[in-house]
Amino acid sequence: MDQVAADRVTAPAPDHAEWSDERLESAVATADLPALLTTLAQILDDDAFIDPALRPDSVIPPAGALHQGGLDEERQRRARELCLDGLRRFRDSGFTTGPEPAPARLTRLLDFIAHEADESYLPLLAHELDIPHDSGAPGWELKALDPERDFRVAVIGAGLSGLVAAHRLRQAGVDVVVFDKNPDIGGTWYENTYPGCRLDTHNYAYSYSFAQKPDWPCYFSSRESIQAYLVKFAEDAGLAPHLRLSTHVVALDFQEPDANWRVRYRAGDGAEAVEVFDAVVSAVGQLNQPLIPRFEGQELFRGETWHTARWRHDVDLTGLRVGVVGTGASGFQVVPAIAEQVEHLTVFQRNPPWTLPTPRYTDEIEEELIWLFRQVPYYARWYRFFQFWTSVEGRRRFAEVDPGWTKEGSVSEQNEVLRVALTDHLTAQFADRPDLLDHVIPAYPPGAKRLLRDNGSWARALKRDDVALVTDRIREFTANGIRTEDGTLHELDAVIYSTGFRASEFLSAMRVTGTGKRDLQDFWDGDARAYLGITVPHFPNLFLVYGPNTNHVVNGSTVLFTELAVEYIVEVVESLVRDGDAALDCREDAYLSYNDAVDAENERMVWGAAKVSSWYKNSRGRVSQCWPFPLLDYWNATREVDPEAYRRIPRPGPYTSA
Ligand code: NAP
Repeated sequence: MDQVAADRVTAPAPDHAEWSDERLESAVATADLPALLTTLAQILDDDAFIDPALRPDSVIPPAGALHQGGLDEERQRRARELCLDGLRRFRDSGFTTGPEPAPARLTRLLDFIAHEADESYLPLLAHELDIPHDSGAPGWELKALDPERDFRVAVIGAGLSGLVAAHRLRQAGVDVVVFDKNPDIGGTWYENTYPGCRLDTHNYAYSYSFAQKPDWPCYFSSRESIQAYLVKFAEDAGLAPHLRLSTHVVALDFQEPDANWRVRYRAGDGAEAVEVFDAVVSAVGQLNQPLIPRFEGQELFRGETWHTARWRHDVDLTGLRVGVVGTGASGFQVVPAIAEQVEHLTVFQRNPPWTLPTPRYTDEIEEELIWLFRQVPYYARWYRFFQFWTSVEGRRRFAEVDPGWTKEGSVSEQNEVLRVALTDHLTAQFADRPDLLDHVIPAYPPGAKRLLRDNGSWARALKRDDVALVTDRIREFTANGIRTEDGTLHELDAVIYSTGFRASEFLSAMRVTGTGKRDLQDFWDGDARAYLGITVPHFPNLFLVYGPNTNHVVNGSTVLFTELAVEYIVEVVESLVRDGDAALDCREDAYLSYNDAVDAENERMVWGAAKVSSWYKNSRGRVSQCWPFPLLDYWNATREVDPEAYRRIPRPGPYTSA
């Protein structure tokens, strides 16, 4: 299983027939140079390629990507010459690749490509780069630790988080059952099938670090590609026998004094059953319970209505007058995708989105680049790494609040720089439509809501004669459409809600009862929190992945956070097995002080400080979704289990509630 994952990160053996000089020249002309220089330095074991004069600049510009690491033309020319020479040497030496770099050498390579990173960052970066391979795998095995002990874990959710949780636990010899309400794996990528659905994070940064895919078709792939990646991962990892699909978990009950969990579930045939597990991992996601706002008269509307996450493929939009409510990430993708097909499209917008110029958003990756990914060992890994490095912490500075900043529409000088750059981008696109321009520039600071990827298709759609952007608030639905506050009735045959999700209602789809019969929702009282986003006091051995305050706006990677949370959970299991305990229960003081720190830092970030609606905040106005600190802080917090943060529940013996 582990080996299968390893194969996915190594490019196929180079094929000599493919390595003509002409081929090399065209590949180098297309290559991402910082990644190729580092790759060649590694595989040829030659520091000439990581010449400090060719070091990329990792400080990203406010809008747009960092082209060729910020190297000027002359340095790009030199880099290309070096790369061409290096590829020829690699070919002429019979494609000999040395062993994976030892730590000191890896440090030199990282120092070239990510030189702003200080030493404390290097372990995180090596993990992300997957050198050495699969460093996140558990360093223990259940039967070696305690040959007498069985340990069963229920994983709820077979999406990106649940699959990696199941895989890691199995690597440690722990028995897992993965429940998912859907008939297939994939989670959000299974459920969201709306037209235009694709990634809006760079594709090469959106795969497990230890199961990288060297041949994505696009820079930002379609949902079908991500779904196929997850299906292949589950196959390679041998997860099929552990999956219980079309099975809805309805309740979790912590049993005292046995200190285990009774998991009640409903199978596809409607029958309910209960099974007992030593621990539960909830990997149910944050964005899977569609939010459909209530509007006056909604039930009167005679046309079809649906949510983007429940796309009605049985309805042919051709010839219909369609309304789309909401202009967040989902609406922004669906509007351009259906504008041509429908007879008329009315887009109901409350707040416009800020958009990041991304010209290659829907482009396929060039053949030459794919050739490099396939033929040159490690190139895809360094390429992925550079995408990750330049798109995480680098953007955090744009989102920090300066308490002395008074200008409306931004929260600091850096945030203002970003606001101006993004405003210029919108102004250029809508210069010929001043009537629209006024409505597409947000009044709130950039970063207060999710920044969307824009290749111009949004402006092209809104500027069509058969598309109307409506910014008056919705007053009511009628039998024939939607009436806005200005009194206009917009006649419609169908209404599509791209109105987001009930993101802050963590685990609300099941009833969870912990120690002393505490109900999880009562304990949270509408304000879900967790220690490290993972554990909650009085709910021992219940672990959350992508839990409260683990989402990212600009400063992180959900895939990496998921991996780190899972590695931590596996370590908690190790620690309790090693100590002969039944369970660990997070201490309330650790939980409270951790969350106080998170809250204080979120107030210093634009998404916490800005007074604008967003799914990052819960109904109390607290930011319950987002992680505010640098990525490194989460890495450090999840490397070791702090015994002081937990109360041990021994086994066997009666359980005593603190
Ligand atoms: P969202 O960002 O929460 O957007 C919801 C939209 O509906 C907003 O425009 C909101 O307006 C509007 N809305 C909500 N209630 C309304 C009401 N009562 N009346 C009028 N308008 C209303 O939801 P989403 O677009 O589904 O995106 C959610 C998250 O999912 C994203 O931020 C992202 O993390 C993820 N996502 C990712 C991708 C991707 O990777 N490609 C694609 C889609 C979604 P206001 O702005 O005024 O609140």
